[in-house]
Amino acid sequence: MAKSKTTASASASTYTLTDKAFNFLKTYINNPSPVGFESSGQKLWLDYVSPLVDTTFVDPYGTAVGVINPKAEFKVVIEAHADEISWFVNYITPEGLIYLKRNGGVDHVIAPGQRVFIHGKKGPVKAVFGWPAIHTRLHNPDAKDPSPKVENLFLDSGARNKKEVDDLGIHIGAVVTYQDGFDELANDYYIGRAFDNRVGGFMIAEVARLLKENKKQLPYGLYVVNAVQEEIGLRGAEMIARRIKPNVAIITDVTHDTYTPMINKIIEGDVACGKGPSLAYGPAVHNKLLSVVQDVAEKNSIPVQLRTVSRSTGTDTDSFAYANDGCPSVLISIPLRYMHTTVEMLHKSDIEQTIRLMYETLLTLTPKTNLSYL
Ligand SMILES: [Zn+2]
Repeated sequence: MAKSKTTASASASTYTLTDKAFNFLKTYINNPSPVGFESSGQKLWLDYVSPLVDTTFVDPYGTAVGVINPKAEFKVVIEAHADEISWFVNYITPEGLIYLKRNGGVDHVIAPGQRVFIHGKKGPVKAVFGWPAIHTRLHNPDAKDPSPKVENLFLDSGARNKKEVDDLGIHIGAVVTYQDGFDELANDYYIGRAFDNRVGGFMIAEVARLLKENKKQLPYGLYVVNAVQEEIGLRGAEMIARRIKPNVAIITDVTHDTYTPMINKIIEGDVACGKGPSLAYGPAVHNKLLSVVQDVAEKNSIPVQLRTVSRSTGTDTDSFAYANDGCPSVLISIPLRYMHTTVEMLHKSDIEQTIRLMYETLLTLTPKTNLSYL
């Protein structure tokens, strides 16, 4: 036992973020990829992934897939989602102010004072979420501080009537993303907009790179899937799961670091950035596949944190698990602070450990891996 452990860890993978990969991560995070309008991000992703796989394809709604061993009958998926939460232009006032609808679970509380891009017909237009000044906003009959709601949030692009808005190429249905981008903080923390879940797209791409660079031959077809439209109901995964009909699916997404204020560990569990990927227990998560992943983590000394989900996982795992006639699926999440804000924060070492865990799991799986429950 001890001996085999030593052997395993001696041969275990190492992963370090190369300069090229790091540059791709920054470009990919900074590029807007609103739900339903992910194409420019998917193009960046495919440019990075194409040289690492045998072939690629894109489905009708833009889910991008890189395939290794496309002829193999047994199919394994590693998956992340490509879309980011955003807003839709919904109503333009005669004074040229712009009211919005949500496109995914974008957080209205953080909106006042933020800078955005409105993705109009003539390219991105800069605008801001205006908000009444502290001096003026209490002068209402109730003397109550208004709280931001979708109905009272508005954008100011500098246009002072509807025609000036039209002239900027802004139209009803144009999508809106925050301007904030990638940055680094102390102690290897990264911040960015929509690390949820484009860090996942980055990680599955890096798994493909490790396989290629280490010249690994897999005994099955590997489908590296960057799915669209997760944030509005796991829809891209639903479509692509039916198309691929995989035998096994490994999903990666973000999960909450529960060490920041106003989060209840009794409810949300005990997960922290920097302590490794989090593995979820839940009915959609296949127990046998989960224990394969746990064994891989132990053999390769990859730290993991456990959590549970009630009913569904709320991730693309559900779409894969319940697709077709049932696909053993597992969820490997990366801890993240301040989800769905513009300063989503995660730790470099968790990116590296999550990549290693997915990579080593792929090297362990074969079409003969016993995943039967009874
Ligand atoms: Zn999300």
